[in-house]
Formats: sequence, structure tokens, C-alpha cells
Amino acid sequence: MPDQPVSMAVVAEPARPLLAAPSALIRALGPLGTPEEQEQPMSNGQFDADVIVVGAGPGGYVAAIRAAQLGAQVVCVEKEYLGGTCLNWGCIPSKAMIAPVERLQHVRHADAMGIQIPGEPQFDFAKMMARKDKIVQTLRGGIGSLFKKNKIRHVEGFARFVDPHTIEVEKDGQKTRLRGKSFILAMGSSVIRLNIPGLEGGRDEGVWTSDDAVTAPFVPESMLVLGGGAVGCEFSYVFNGLGSKVTLVEMMPNLLPLMDTDLGTELGRVLGKQGIKVKTGATLERVEKTAKGWKCFVKKGADTEEVEVQVVLLGVGRKANTDGMDLEKTGVRLHRRGVEVVDDTLRTHAPHIYAIGDVTGRIQLAHVASAEGILAATNAVTGSDRKMEYKCVPNCVYTVPEVASVGLTQAEAEAQGYDVAVGKFQFRALGKAMATGDIDGFVKVVAEKKYGEVLGVHMIGAHVTDMIHEGVVALKLEATLESMAETIHAHPTLSEAMLEAFEDALGHAIHK
Ligand code: FAD
Repeated sequence: MPDQPVSMAVVAEPARPLLAAPSALIRALGPLGTPEEQEQPMSNGQFDADVIVVGAGPGGYVAAIRAAQLGAQVVCVEKEYLGGTCLNWGCIPSKAMIAPVERLQHVRHADAMGIQIPGEPQFDFAKMMARKDKIVQTLRGGIGSLFKKNKIRHVEGFARFVDPHTIEVEKDGQKTRLRGKSFILAMGSSVIRLNIPGLEGGRDEGVWTSDDAVTAPFVPESMLVLGGGAVGCEFSYVFNGLGSKVTLVEMMPNLLPLMDTDLGTELGRVLGKQGIKVKTGATLERVEKTAKGWKCFVKKGADTEEVEVQVVLLGVGRKANTDGMDLEKTGVRLHRRGVEVVDDTLRTHAPHIYAIGDVTGRIQLAHVASAEGILAATNAVTGSDRKMEYKCVPNCVYTVPEVASVGLTQAEAEAQGYDVAVGKFQFRALGKAMATGDIDGFVKVVAEKKYGEVLGVHMIGAHVTDMIHEGVVALKLEATLESMAETIHAHPTLSEAMLEAFEDALGHAIHK
């Protein structure tokens, strides 16, 4: 077998391009069967690797590194770029677009802090996007460097199964066969175009997906963003901040429908104040092509509004990457949303094959993919039967203001029969928030009354995607309202809103 070189550029400083993130997101699994003990012995009993990982997104590359750290010989096959969706089209490029827009807003509103900047601040979109590309390339190189350091063989190309222990990797017409003792499937997901009557064409016709938005060649004059989840809200913030007239359409009554309803309501209010036309409880019924773009028919109740835009941005719709892999040759089973895992050990119905991340169609977040990668690698290499724990998964949205959440929403806690105590504290009451001008938003704490156990923490405001980890740890350690309220928080900080919310749930917030 010819040795495949590690092909990516190597940079001095490897970095971890993932971060933040929900609990309500775990989607119901289909009926689960038991794994079939159908391990098929190799013809000559030899393997090219102990573990072959398919896909080098935040699930796959992290799994590969952990398996190597545990002493396994590891191959990681990737058909496109190291870092997967997260690094190349998702988490990182979107945040690298949000950051300059936030800075631009600071400059626009600097007068409120006594800073005089003559004239209207200008921006250079091409330069913003070039900076974003540089960040992505640097981080990609960082993963290549980590692979080299951990002696992971990176094989470029598309992997498909020949039999349960053999894959064929194809690149530019060249085919390489690799045999693995165990496999970790981490193929992720890809955008799909929703079927909206009249909406035909792609990027050049002004029909964009998130992949097009992070590689946008220009700032459209106007856009309709379909979907008020994290992706739709983040891009609405970016393009509105850069001057597009944005209409954001969400079918559910609130933005961020999977989060506590108070968060989506507040985000809708603040984005509206920024100039975005937020239409919740509304659907995009159909569109018509116009000379400049699209006439969109947005239906809300009995009314239909016509909105003319240059670009329609589809902020919803992804599909697990399983096509063309001949998974039926392995014993792995598929369900409607992707690869089926038997249980939270992440084994599939073929006991030597694990599946992690977006391809399972469960929680679609980078940090969940990474955590699953670490667990699957550990189980695959050591033979252990560890299980994933999804109780404390943070879920973050990087709009300005940011939104972050962990654990049960108030509605979920009530539906589960808890006698619920709720504490809430607005940032505007804090000295630090007034000093920095970050007065929008609040912290909301959900707990059960009997023992005071914290069940969920939900927040919207500046820096909450960093602050949420106090809530994550509180849930992980089964902390009570009392223990959290007795924890001294530095003054002046935005984190004081957490302390006050815990106190409020106990009925005695000092500053409320
Ligand atoms: P992926 O990252 O999709 O990686 C899978 C890899 O497998 C790809 O590189 C693909 O090329 C490769 N592959 C597929 N099939 C094959 C094959 N047969 N052979 C070889 N290689 C193959 N999540 C967050 O947690 N925080 C965020 O802020 C966030 N922002 C996002 C913003 C956007 C616009 C989008 C679209 C997503 C965002 N996400 C975010 C979600 C996050 O990107 C995904 O949950 C994450 O990338 C999933 O990781 P993964 O490793 O499972 O799959």
C-alpha cells in the first residue's frame, strides 16, 4: 500500500477550531434493535489500521487524535478539507464574519461613549472575507500539524465500503484499499435546498445556502432569510449589519424555537430594533423570479405579504452524508436522519463500526461531535462500553446579543412534572453592563423546588456564550440554587446576573 503523505500545510500553532453549545436538541431516536454479532473475519487477518476514521470534521479529527493517543494505529480519510463543515463552512467562518460586523456597530455607536469619529464608517467586504479565509486556512493547517504530531495517516479521497472491514478510497480516479479493525463514521452533513414552489436555481440566481453565505461574493441589497434557528439568526445579524434589508421568516411563534421561549422572544425584539424585519409564525409559501431577484409570498395567518429581495438565503435543511458509501455491505443500519447507533456507546449495528456527530442525525453541534469522537475512540480502542451523557450540552447562538442555554427549558421542566422555581435577572441592572453599554438581555434559571437542583440555565446578552459554562458545570455537578447563590461572583462582572438569578429563584435577589 503506498504511503499517503499528510497533505495539508503545517503551521506553528495548532488550534482547536470548535466551541460552544443545547439540550433540547437531541432528537428522538427511532426504534433501536440489538447489534448483530456478524463480525466477518478478514481473509488474512491483517489490518492497515486499528481504527479508520471516515471524515475529518470536529467529530472525526478529534476521534482520530484520541485513538492515536491511546496507542492505536490510525487512518483518517477525508474527501475535502480537514476541519469539515465546522471549520470550512460553519462555526468558524460564520463567527469570523460576525466579529467585524460587531466592531462596525461599535464604531457606528461610539458617539454614545463620547468618541467622535467623523463621517460614516466604511467597510471593505473583500478584506473581511479574506481575513475569514486566512483564519480557516490557519486552523486547517493546525489540524494537519496535530495529525503529524500524533502519527495519524491522513488519506485524501472519498471512502466507500467494499466489505465490513475494507474501504476503497478514491481520489482523482486513483483507488486505494484500506482494511481496518474498527471504524468510526464521522461523515457529517451537507446543506440541502428546500422545495419552495417557484424557487429554482443556485448561488448565481440568488438562492443561497449557508455554504454560499460564508463564501458570499458581495453584500446583497436585500435578502429573505428562511429559518429563525441559530444559522438564520446569525446570518440575518451579519448581512443586516452590512446594510442588507433583511426579512427573517420563521414558521414557529418564536425565533430559536428549540430554546426557552423567553430567549427567542427577546432576540426577536432586539434584532427588530437593529432593523431586521422579523416575521415569526410565518411561512414562505412561494416565490416568483423578478428582474432583480425574487418576489416572496410570506404567509402569516390569513394574510400574505409580498417581499421583493435580491437573495433568498435558506437557513434550514441539512442531510447526513451517507450516499454512495455502500454502507449496506457492512451491517450498519440507516434511519431517516442518518446512521443509526444502537445506544449511547455510539456502536452501530455492526459492532466494530461506530458513528458520531452530524451523520447520526442527533445533536448537530461541533462540540457534541468532538465529545462523541473521544468516547467512540475510547470504546473502539480499549473495548470499553462508555456511554455519552447529553444532559449538560450547551447550545449557543452568536448573534449580538448572544444567546446560550443548557439543560431543561421552563416548559420542559414543567412538562416533566417538576415543581419549578424560576429566577430571572436583567443585565441592565448591573453596573458592569451599564459601563460597557451591554444592557440588553437577561439570565433565567430553572430549578426544582424540593431540593433546589438547577435544571436549566438560559441567557441572552453580551458574552453569554462564554458565561454559560457556569450553568453547564452547575448541571454537571447537580448543584443546588443554594450552593450557586453562595458562590462569590466578582464585581463588577456580567456574571453577577447569574448570581442574582440564582438568588431570585430563592426569592431574595439583592438588586431586583
Ligand atoms: P462535519 O463537520 O460535516 O465533517 C464531516 C467530514 O466528513 C467532511 O469534511 C466531509 O468532507 C467528510 N466526508 C463525508 N463523507 C465522506 C466520505 N465518504 N469519505 C471521506 N470523507 C467524507 N456547531 C456548533 O457547535 N457551533 C456553531 O457555532 C456552529 N455554527 C454553524 C454554522 C453553520 C453555518 C453551519 C452550517 C453549522 C454550524 N454548526 C455549529 C454545526 C457544526 O458545523 C456541525 O455540527 C459539525 O461540523 C459536525 O461535525 P462532524 O464532524 O459530525 O461533521
